[in-house]
Amino acid sequence: MSQLDRAELAQQGAIRADGLRAAGVELVALTFVDNSGIARVKAVPVDRLWSAAAWGVGASNSFDFFLATDDIVGGTHSRGPVGDLRLHPDLDALVPLAAQPGWAWAPAWRYDQEGAPHPQDARALVAAATARLAELGYHARTAFELEWVVTAADAPDDPRSATAGPAYGYARLSSQAGYLRKLVSTLTAQGVAVEQIHPEYAAGQFEVSVAAGDPLRAADVAVLTRETIRTISGQYGLRASFTPKFAPDGVGNGGHVHLSLWDGDRNLCTGGDRRFGLTDTAEAFGAGILARLPALLAIGAPSVVSYLRLEPHHWAGVFRAWGLENREAPLRLVQGPAGQRDRAANFEVKCFDLTANPYLVVAALIFAGLAGVSARASLPEPADVDPATLPSAERLPVSLADAVTAFEADSALTSAFGAELATTLMDVRRGEIDRLGALPPEELCAVMRYLH
Ligand code: GLU
Ligand code: MG
Repeated sequence: MSQLDRAELAQQGAIRADGLRAAGVELVALTFVDNSGIARVKAVPVDRLWSAAAWGVGASNSFDFFLATDDIVGGTHSRGPVGDLRLHPDLDALVPLAAQPGWAWAPAWRYDQEGAPHPQDARALVAAATARLAELGYHARTAFELEWVVTAADAPDDPRSATAGPAYGYARLSSQAGYLRKLVSTLTAQGVAVEQIHPEYAAGQFEVSVAAGDPLRAADVAVLTRETIRTISGQYGLRASFTPKFAPDGVGNGGHVHLSLWDGDRNLCTGGDRRFGLTDTAEAFGAGILARLPALLAIGAPSVVSYLRLEPHHWAGVFRAWGLENREAPLRLVQGPAGQRDRAANFEVKCFDLTANPYLVVAALIFAGLAGVSARASLPEPADVDPATLPSAERLPVSLADAVTAFEADSALTSAFGAELATTLMDVRRGEIDRLGALPPEELCAVMRYLH
C-alpha cells in the first residue's frame, strides 16, 4: 500500500468495526515488528478503528532505534525523541483473536504524518519486493517454521519443567496434549492453516509448520502464530521461549523459511531441466540466496545470541552449501514426495532464527534471489554429505559483527533496503553488539530467553 485513500479507509474501517462489534470485539491491537525483531503494539477501541485506518495511530520514530533489550541507540538517521509516525492497520489482515476474547489484531503499515510510507516500514519493504517479482512475472510462496521451548511459568529457566520426554518423543506430546490441541484450534480459528505440530529435538522444544502463502501473509502469520503460542502458553501455566539458544549447550530454536518461486500456476522449483528438477530461474534464484547468505545472516540471524545457535552438526546450516534434503545445509532443497512436487518443491533456508523480523527476512530473500536471477547465477555442486566433512566448506559468519560487515558490503541488498533502513538496521546491530557482545554465553542466553 503506498497511497492513503483516507475516505475509503475510514469507510472500510467502519464496516469492519461493525462486524467486529457483532462478534464481541472491543479492542484492536496494531503491531509492527521493529528493527530488533520485537513486535511492538498499540491498541484502539473498536469504535476508533475507522480513524486508525484513515489517520493512523501515533508511534515514535525512535522505535527504529530500539534494541531487543529496550535500550535505545543513536544512529545516522536518528531524530532522538523527536518526530512521530502513524500506524495504519492493514484491514485485509485484520482478525479476531480466538484466545484473547474481546480482541482483534491487525498488522500495521507505518506512514509519516504527511501520508508518505515510512522508509523503515518492514511491511512496505515486503510489498516492494513482491512488486519487483511481479514485474518480472513471478510470485513467491513462503512459510516460516516456528520452534520454541516450553517451560513451566514458575520454572522459566528449566527446559524440562513443563515436559520431560525424549526428542520427538510421544511422551512429550501426550504430556502437553491439551496445550497443543488448544494451540492448533486457536490458530485454525484465526485463519492460520497448521500443517504439522511436533516435539522437537531439544529439551522442552516444539515446532509448528503452517501452510505457505504470499510473502506478506507469511510474515503476518509468523507474528500472529508466535503471539498466539505465547498467549496460549500463559493460559496453560507455561512460558514460551523463541530465543535461538535457550542455554549454551544443546540444540537451538530455528526460524526456517520455506520459499518457492512461481510463474502463474507453475512452481519453478520443479519440473525443470537443472539438477533435481529445478528450472534455470529457480536455480538462479537459489544461487542468489546462497551467494548472499553471509550478508543475509545480518537480517535472518540478527542477534548476538544467534551465533551461539549456528554451530556445525545442529541442523542449523553453518557452511555455505546447498543440497537436496540435506539438513546440515543452510539452503536445503525440499522436493516433497513423488506426485506432490508440483506443489511441494521449495527451498528452505535453515540458518535463520526467530529473533529476525519476518518481514525483513522475506524481503531480503526475494531481493537476494532476484539478484541471482538477473545475474543468471547457477548453483555450485550440491552437498550430499554433512558439509562440515568437506575440506572446501566455507563457514558462514561466526559472529553478528561478521554478518554486519558482509551486509554492508552487499550493494544489492543495501540498495534494495534503501539507505535509511540499511544504515539503521546496522546501527541497531552494532548497538546490540556493544550491549551484549561481551556477555558470557550463560548470561547472554539468560538475558535473551524471553525477549522475542
Ligand atoms: N532446531 C534446529 C535449528 O536450530 C532445526 C531442527 C530441524 O531441522 O527442524 O534450526
Ligand atoms: Mg525443526
